[in-house]
Amino acid sequence: MSWFADDMPRPVPHMDDAAFWEGCAERRLLFQHCAGCSTARHPPTPICPVCRSSATQWREAPAHAEVYTYTVIHYAAHAAVKDRLPYVAAVVSFAGLSGVRLVTNLTDCDPGRVRIGMPVRLWWDDIGDGQYLPRFAPLEREASS
Ligand SMILES: [Zn+2]
Repeated sequence: MSWFADDMPRPVPHMDDAAFWEGCAERRLLFQHCAGCSTARHPPTPICPVCRSSATQWREAPAHAEVYTYTVIHYAAHAAVKDRLPYVAAVVSFAGLSGVRLVTNLTDCDPGRVRIGMPVRLWWDDIGDGQYLPRFAPLEREASS
């Protein structure tokens, strides 16, 4: 069972991000890198913004990630999210990948205790049909208060 309700719209891969979603299906978080200058980028693009090469490589994400920014959602814009309110939509950054920001959800946390720079860990949300989505939770369990 997925973190959101099963009627949540699913990702629709296109030619630039198909390798990203194929990696997710294997529970591997892959980011696009330029084969010319090694610049990492996400979302994937057909041309490197630094050297204009169209040659790409896909590399596994570093283990360390943190909250770059976030917002707490209190309104259900889609019926599939109403049972999760309030929930955290976050942008996560990765050590050593300055060009990569991943939009995701932060789970297993009190939305009022989320902070920019909070270390987070990846977990894979099984959305069915062999597809997984990368979601994140605080690296350290929150202290009860
Ligand atoms: Zn490049």
